[in-house]
Amino acid sequence: MVYDSIIIGGSYAGLAAAMPLARARRNVLVIDAGRRRNRFAEHSHGFLTQDGARTADIVAIGREQILAYDTVEWLNAHAGHATRTDVGFRVELEGMDARTARRLVIATGVIDTLSPIPGLAERWGRHVFHCPYCHGYELNQGRIGVLGTSAMSVHTALLLPDWGTTTLFLNDSLTLDSAQESQLQARGVAIELVPVDRIVGQADVVLRDGRTIVLDGLFTTTTTAVAGPTAASLHCEFAEGPFGLTIKTDAMKATTVPGVFACGDAARAGGSVSLAVGDGTLAGVAAHQSLVFEHY
Ligand code: FAD
Ligand code: MG
Repeated sequence: MVYDSIIIGGSYAGLAAAMPLARARRNVLVIDAGRRRNRFAEHSHGFLTQDGARTADIVAIGREQILAYDTVEWLNAHAGHATRTDVGFRVELEGMDARTARRLVIATGVIDTLSPIPGLAERWGRHVFHCPYCHGYELNQGRIGVLGTSAMSVHTALLLPDWGTTTLFLNDSLTLDSAQESQLQARGVAIELVPVDRIVGQADVVLRDGRTIVLDGLFTTTTTAVAGPTAASLHCEFAEGPFGLTIKTDAMKATTVPGVFACGDAARAGGSVSLAVGDGTLAGVAAHQSLVFEHY
């Protein structure tokens, strides 16, 4: 069978992309490896009507609603390389037969890499975060740290005083110019020069000189990489962002490869559930219209 569209990634962006195609009664195959980016966090904030809902519940409801449409199929699998064929695209699957579709939507999200500081990864999504808008409010104006990783850490540290008393740990990872120093000072951000040794307790920072700074939450930026090999295997162009490469798309989420669309965190610098759902909707509509009008 040749599907109208294969959607790779069955989380917020991929499910949203499936919706317009399903409602147009198109045959859709959603392929999902089941590893959402926010699986480390129990609750999600900021997505209208689902503020504070469990991260897993939002996708579970989305999946149930999408699978209620007869023309949608679901496959738990890991998509590999894709190649162009006469009719569209052939997607290789690990341990299963390849699947073919006329259009492809890549909604695979990104993979975060954290600094290798002991104790950091274990607290990711619980007391260590990257997005103030997602997790700042719940810190109740408490003690907040920003772990310096790159120049982006200054940006995060300048935002965070709206959510609590903020300390920026430079951690030998960035140097401040005098303009940045005065901006941070104007926002009341404390600057800690002694490097970080490890994270203990809830989100407490142990410094190399032995001091422990007790915190309610610690923010850090991560480097990100688009998950899965499909976009690269099709030679989609990538764009450089502040955290890593993302798949380059136009305003309708078309990639540089005709017939291939991309949405969600994989195709924007810095994402959220709301933005993934919005982008996914655009990609689904664009994929549908390209089927109707036989253009890309
Ligand atoms: P994902 O949700 O990452 O989903 C991608 C899906 O594609 C996964 O199921 C994955 O397994 C699958 N996949 C990947 N590769 C393949 C492959 N080769 N084959 C098949 N399937 C594949 N945002 C908010 O709005 N509010 C919050 O409170 C919030 N909290 C967060 C907390 C943490 C700790 C993190 C890391 C992120 C948080 N975010 C939050 C951001 C949010 O998680 C992302 O913006 C959102 O998940 C992006 O959705 P997506 O569908 O693009 O990607
Ligand atoms: Mg998705």
